[in-house]
Amino acid sequence: MRKALFCCLAGETMIKISKQELLQIPSLLSAMGYRVIAPIRAGGVVKLAPLGPDDQPEVEYIRIINSPKKFLLPDDESLFRYRSTATITSYGLKIRFPTAEGPCPVTILPEYLPIRERLAFFGIHQCMVSSVRYLDKVMMSDPADPYYKNRREGMFIAELDCDEGDEYCMCRTLGTYKIPAGYADIQMRKSSSGYLVNAASEAGKELLSRLKKQDAQGAYPKPVPKMVNDFELVARDEQEIDAKGAPKSLEACTLCAACTVTCPTCYCMDIEDKFSLVDPSNVSRMRTRMSCQRKCYSAIAGGTAFLHAKEERFKWRVKHKFPFSINAFKLVGCTGCGNCVAYCPAGVDFREFVGRRVA
Ligand code: SF4
Ligand code: SF4
Repeated sequence: MRKALFCCLAGETMIKISKQELLQIPSLLSAMGYRVIAPIRAGGVVKLAPLGPDDQPEVEYIRIINSPKKFLLPDDESLFRYRSTATITSYGLKIRFPTAEGPCPVTILPEYLPIRERLAFFGIHQCMVSSVRYLDKVMMSDPADPYYKNRREGMFIAELDCDEGDEYCMCRTLGTYKIPAGYADIQMRKSSSGYLVNAASEAGKELLSRLKKQDAQGAYPKPVPKMVNDFELVARDEQEIDAKGAPKSLEACTLCAACTVTCPTCYCMDIEDKFSLVDPSNVSRMRTRMSCQRKCYSAIAGGTAFLHAKEERFKWRVKHKFPFSINAFKLVGCTGCGNCVAYCPAGVDFREFVGRRVA
């Protein structure tokens, strides 16, 4: 491949392509062996979904209702299976528990099969790439989660720059529209006559070489996206959050958990063992999505729930995004995508709680 000209950063390659050529990129990624996940418009929303042969990716959109989390950390998955001593008797389920004579003779079935498919996310915006960065911090910190790691390794990100948010976005306040080097294999942005595509990884450069275009001159632009509303953060540490009253809109919260489900960085999961009554000795250890907005999230034996009141659960979510994440991972846990505000049926707006509107 020829060397990139002029102002591209060392090691980067930039080309200019038409929209038609841009829409060929998912097929090129498939040909490179990736399972392509892209935004598609369906049922009045735009969502990330595996791209079928007849699907057209959506590249003119502001928000998606789900996020890469759905594929990197699925709503539920079996971690492993084991055979227990459970049997059905006329009195019900009987399980032999460990006794002084020895442990319960449980047989773990090593059925864990690493998932080796390589994922490629095409056309996701900066806030969603930032969410992958955050999930990496959480799930790949020592010890790395092997299920997440399997999906993450060899993954390709084709990021599509978003220049203009809607009334729910807050990425400018949080600076999450800036993607650190190493996260996107290619960056794509609309230009006056097509699209600019910048490759920053070897896989990205291989993809661009398949488009067979001349290198473009100039630097890849990095403007700050325009926002409808702008905020400055006023409550980001625990004391500031505790000192504030709950937002008025919280009274209408129905505890539906849409805020945590649509949030690209909410990663809380529950662990439960599932078995069928037909064969109760055959148990699956399941990891399933959990929401801090549900009372059962903090429930313990005896019926106590530590986060009993709605206000406590709301503040817990905000604390997790800010002080807890900053302390644990040196990274804010909110990408400013605005999904939790946009999809909340009660109109609860956490931005009014942590920020002051400045425009
Ligand atoms: S989406 Fe809104 S109504 Fe539903 S739990 Fe979250 S804050 Fe409450
Ligand atoms: S807390 Fe809300 S704005 Fe922040 S990442 Fe989650 S859904 Fe997006």
